[in-house]
Amino acid sequence: MRKVSIFGATGSIGQNTIDLIKRDPSAYDVVALSGGQNIQQLAEDAVVLGADVAVTADETRLSELRAALGDSGVEAAAGARAIVEAACRPADWVMSAIVGAAGLPPGLAALQQGATLALANKESLVTAGQLIMETAQNHGGRILPVDSEHSAVFQALVGEDMDAVERIVITASGGAFRDWTLEDMARATPEQASSHPNWNMGQRITVDSASMFNKALEIIETKEFFNCSHEQIEVLVHPESLVHALVGFKDGALMAHVGPPDMRHAIGYALHWPERQHLPVARLDLANIGALHFRAPDPQRYPALRLAHEVLELGGHAGAVFNAAKERALDAFLDHRIGFLQMADVVEEVLSQLSPSHCLKNAEMSLDTVTETDHVARRTADTVIEQLA
Ligand code: NAD
Ligand code: MG
Repeated sequence: MRKVSIFGATGSIGQNTIDLIKRDPSAYDVVALSGGQNIQQLAEDAVVLGADVAVTADETRLSELRAALGDSGVEAAAGARAIVEAACRPADWVMSAIVGAAGLPPGLAALQQGATLALANKESLVTAGQLIMETAQNHGGRILPVDSEHSAVFQALVGEDMDAVERIVITASGGAFRDWTLEDMARATPEQASSHPNWNMGQRITVDSASMFNKALEIIETKEFFNCSHEQIEVLVHPESLVHALVGFKDGALMAHVGPPDMRHAIGYALHWPERQHLPVARLDLANIGALHFRAPDPQRYPALRLAHEVLELGGHAGAVFNAAKERALDAFLDHRIGFLQMADVVEEVLSQLSPSHCLKNAEMSLDTVTETDHVARRTADTVIEQLA
């Protein structure tokens, strides 16, 4: 039996992971599940899966979690530190599906104990790519991408040499506002930004899809994961979300990964890697679909894409600055304090204020330096937001 843990178990990726594990429970020995506010879901899954421990991120809800677990024998724990402790418990395969920078410490802890890390939490690579890749290398751990585009690239690269790769193309659906004018985007509400045409995901990544901050994070994630240059990374708008990524080789071939917009494919690929096993996802009927569409993203409507390339040119802790500023700008947009397009203004301003001090190439990187940069960037973002609002 494989020992598995799932961090962010109550979220969209976490629940899709649990769906796969529940289909074959005798194959897995569940060590730890973590969640946030949805105590009932966390407790129910922990009991059904027979987890050793269930952890909520919210320290004030420990007694509630304990009560929900009843006499099941599942241990209860709470708080950020308890999540890291749970990630230190030996496991063969760990799903990192917490949203935001909070996913980094447990991901690092899982790699330090030698686990294979299925990485949905792209923010880990954006904020601390160098650190997380080195940690995996130094402890014999492995990282498998779960983001659909990165899983697609990973699959297209099986048996290939990175030296033969000319470019990596990740696709973007364009999110909720792909056909909106700039003027309409400026007035967009959080409610409008929170519905995705193709994917069913958590609210934060859904809004990030509408602004393409999600794609910006993914550009950085691509660079960190595949160790290519940022000039090799392209974004292509593809409204159908069926081609997830393409890899262009030096002989002119383009290998495309085509599949249904169902995250259980990428999660299942990471779960069964290096094998392929049956997955409960729809089979595409391309004759019925008929046509696929592609277009270049509009740089004016999606400044986040340009900022991602700037971050990669800056290097050092620029990714941590970018992510933290983006998280605060997103909070402010969701609270109706700033407009949709102002999120990019906030991030750009924070980057320009902090780049002389925090984005130095070849700077030492540790969890402490990343955390410190994250805090400074959040404070700076809050000041910028106050001035704008
Ligand atoms: P979600 O909002 O549905 O779930 C997030 C999970 O993280 C929940 O379990 C929540 O309780 C937990 N969480 C939130 N804040 C936390 C904190 N501070 N500390 C500890 N736990 C916390 O998010 P999601 O859509 O499942 O996305 C999870 C991650 O996967 C994100 O990094 C996202 O970018 C990435 N991702 C998601 C999808 C998708 O289809 N949903 C696709 C690709 C990548
Ligand atoms: Mg993605």
